[in-house]
Amino acid sequence: MGESVELPSRLGILPFRNKVLLPGAIIRIRCTSPSSVKLVEQELWQKEEKGLIGILPVRDAAETTSVGPVLSSGLGPDMGLGERNPKSQIGVSDAQKIDGKNQQEVIQWHTRGVAARALHLSRGVEKPSGRVTYIVVLEGLCRFNVQELSTRGTYYTARITSLDKTKPEMELVEQDPDFIALSLQFKASAMDLISVLEQKQKTGGRTKVLLETVPVHKLADIFVASFEISFEEQLSMLDSVDIKVRLSKATELVNRHLQSIRVAEKITQKVEGQLSKSQKEFLLRQQMRAIKEELGDNDDDEDDVSALEKKMQNAGMPANIWKHAQRELRRLKKMQPQQPGYNSSRVYLELLADLPWQTASEEHELDLKAAKERLDSDHYGLVKVKQRIIEYLAVRKLKPDARGPVLCFVGPPGVGKTSLASSIASALGRKFVRISLGGVKDEADIRGHRRTYIGSMPGRLIDGLKKVAVCNPVMLLDEIDKTGSDVRGDPASALLEVLDPEQNKTFNDHYLNVPYDLSKVIFVATANKAQPIPPPLLDRMEVIELPGYTPEEKLRIAMRHLIPRVLDQHGLSSDFLQIPEAMVKLIIERYTREAGVRNLERNLASLARAAAVRVAEQGHVVPLSKDVHQLSSPLLESRLGESAEVEMEVISMGDNHEISSDFRINSSMIVDESMLEKVLGPPRFDDKETAERVAAPGISVGLVWTAFGGEVQFVEATSMAGKGDLHLTGQLGDVIKESAQIALTWVRARATDLKLASAKETNLLDGRDVHIHFPAGAIPKDGPSAGVTLVTALVSLFTHTRVRSDTAMTGEMTLRGLVLPVGGVKDKVLAAHRYGIKRVILPERNLKDLVEVPSAVLTSMEILPAKRMEDVLEHAFEGGCPWRQTSKL
Ligand code: ADP
Repeated sequence: MGESVELPSRLGILPFRNKVLLPGAIIRIRCTSPSSVKLVEQELWQKEEKGLIGILPVRDAAETTSVGPVLSSGLGPDMGLGERNPKSQIGVSDAQKIDGKNQQEVIQWHTRGVAARALHLSRGVEKPSGRVTYIVVLEGLCRFNVQELSTRGTYYTARITSLDKTKPEMELVEQDPDFIALSLQFKASAMDLISVLEQKQKTGGRTKVLLETVPVHKLADIFVASFEISFEEQLSMLDSVDIKVRLSKATELVNRHLQSIRVAEKITQKVEGQLSKSQKEFLLRQQMRAIKEELGDNDDDEDDVSALEKKMQNAGMPANIWKHAQRELRRLKKMQPQQPGYNSSRVYLELLADLPWQTASEEHELDLKAAKERLDSDHYGLVKVKQRIIEYLAVRKLKPDARGPVLCFVGPPGVGKTSLASSIASALGRKFVRISLGGVKDEADIRGHRRTYIGSMPGRLIDGLKKVAVCNPVMLLDEIDKTGSDVRGDPASALLEVLDPEQNKTFNDHYLNVPYDLSKVIFVATANKAQPIPPPLLDRMEVIELPGYTPEEKLRIAMRHLIPRVLDQHGLSSDFLQIPEAMVKLIIERYTREAGVRNLERNLASLARAAAVRVAEQGHVVPLSKDVHQLSSPLLESRLGESAEVEMEVISMGDNHEISSDFRINSSMIVDESMLEKVLGPPRFDDKETAERVAAPGISVGLVWTAFGGEVQFVEATSMAGKGDLHLTGQLGDVIKESAQIALTWVRARATDLKLASAKETNLLDGRDVHIHFPAGAIPKDGPSAGVTLVTALVSLFTHTRVRSDTAMTGEMTLRGLVLPVGGVKDKVLAAHRYGIKRVILPERNLKDLVEVPSAVLTSMEILPAKRMEDVLEHAFEGGCPWRQTSKL
């Protein structure tokens, strides 16, 4: 390749349409047209020595706008500067035949071509026609310039001059520093390209040898010939007769090629990176499946789906629901596990399969006597409540499908509402499920979310039924009074449907989307107060009130029920820990002040825990010392050191009674007052609280009704210099604020009568403001029953007389001073009793409510009826109303 070629002055010309053969390039062509066949035959085939032909690019006339004359003027003798006029063309207005066809269109010949020799020739004869064809492999050798183009027979010949440099010319060029620089630059680029290509194709370094052996100007052609570049670019390369120009052009093209390879590589890498993650996962899954199949272990999704199907078949769904479920199952089967929606569809079907459509606890013949015994053994007292439950059960026995009212236990926390409901369940031999409705504001909590929402779930009822797995449980709707409505719908209306026997046969949970029959469920509800329950809902229920316990009742409950249970839960027995009655009484009086027995149970649990620590520790110490009681337990001491009340944390020991039996040998531990103080801290309440708080004029003791049962509520009033304004604090609602207004107005109106002001000074508020505060400022308060208490506080303030500390009161008051009845009397009286209050002033019309108060409480208290406000004042102050004698009222 390195040798220079002697060119003849004339060459047979093979036109290349829109194509360029560059020196150093090899091309295989098939010659079929008569002219080219003739050319090949005469110039190559028949020549003894290797013949040469000229390859001249021609351009379709359609590709250009200007057609030059034959041998255009651009053709000059200085062809070395051909690039100055690269577009020099020989225009041939051709009516002659090219390729044996009548070429009517104008074709343009390029003025420069490349001489080529045949590396391989093969001749063929087409069969029926006998037409001769040639397949020629040509190698481009060197550039030439066309001086004159003429035809010889059927093909063209041209008079040509070589454009290659002679040896001395070449030597001269090689010394040119520009050439040296350019060739180095080209070689560097070429090297880069080769490395990239070799790296891509993982071939050895054979191409690099080329760079060492082939002269650089020829290399430039060889490289460019291998690129896919446009015809124009090929022509311009052909026209680059000047070696420096050729090198710089080739360098540019090599760099461009390199760049495009790199960009393409980057893109593929990126795409591959993106694809590979999911593809990899897919491949791995396929492989996993194949491996499992191979192991005979292909239990996954398909098996799961068939297990699900089996479960669904056994679920006993009603026919229409079974149809719906099957439709959904068919959809699931068509889905890929990775497909979105697969999981939600599956979870849904699982729910359908898990729901107890027919499974029911077997209802045995109800034995009322046994039920009564059971209720009695579980609960102390509550005679009326238990009686009502027995009646309820009796009706169910006689008419199992009777649509009796829903029982609703109303009362403060810890009075046994939940445990009564669970006793009903066990009396009926049914399963028990508790649904907490406290704080439910969203209707979807009851009815579920539609499955179109992401993360949708069934409502609490359906969820509870799924958990309990029978369709006829006793379902406790706990804290039904704590549901509220807001923008997310009204849970109460959904509950209404649940409790309505007409509608609950086809209860519609949005998630489930098929009707579910709730009619076999026995509903029991609990509430702290009946008043917040929406009336339509309350109408469906029969309210059974549990007002709270007297201290005596609490004592009995503790001795009979709570202590044995607490000991049992802590793995102890009465052999080890004894809590005497007197101590329980102390706990009730000094450590709890509640309507129920929850805190009492917590405190007992604290004692049991402390005892359990001692038992567990003694296990290690006993063998060393016989004096067990003298042992101080470091753990217990530190526990006892805490004065704060111990919070409830009952750690159930289940049936594990080992600890107690192991230590039965030790004599039992009896709780005494000092242990109480050590474990429970100093007493939290005492009887003196009211006396201490009512020490100054302007303070009175009221009785209010809260969610926790009755409570004692102090009212404080004070006055200071001001403009006659009334200030109220303590998170008060509108009703209680109005009561304060009424109270103040009433007192002001009676200022002279009550001798609160002198006859001249008619305005009680002259130059002063009044401030009324309801302590425990963090707790919101409302209601009308503080009316009489407010007046009493104000009268006490203005007369500078203290209210009796042993007297509490409740009652609404009219503007004219009449005392109206209020609700929750029983709870209020019990609360007063808990606070050690001896006298309670009640509206006269409330006296009838006292029948519900345990007689033990009533006998220990003085109940003072009041018709008018003056009666209240008469009872509230020591020695009666101080102005009674002079009052004209
Ligand atoms: P509520 O549901 O009213 O808040 P619970 O039913 O949870 O109260 O009762 C709290 C605890 O007090 C339970 O352990 C319960 O057994 C017990 N308890 C309440 N009242 C009695 C009672 N009359 N006899 C026996 N135990 C009772």
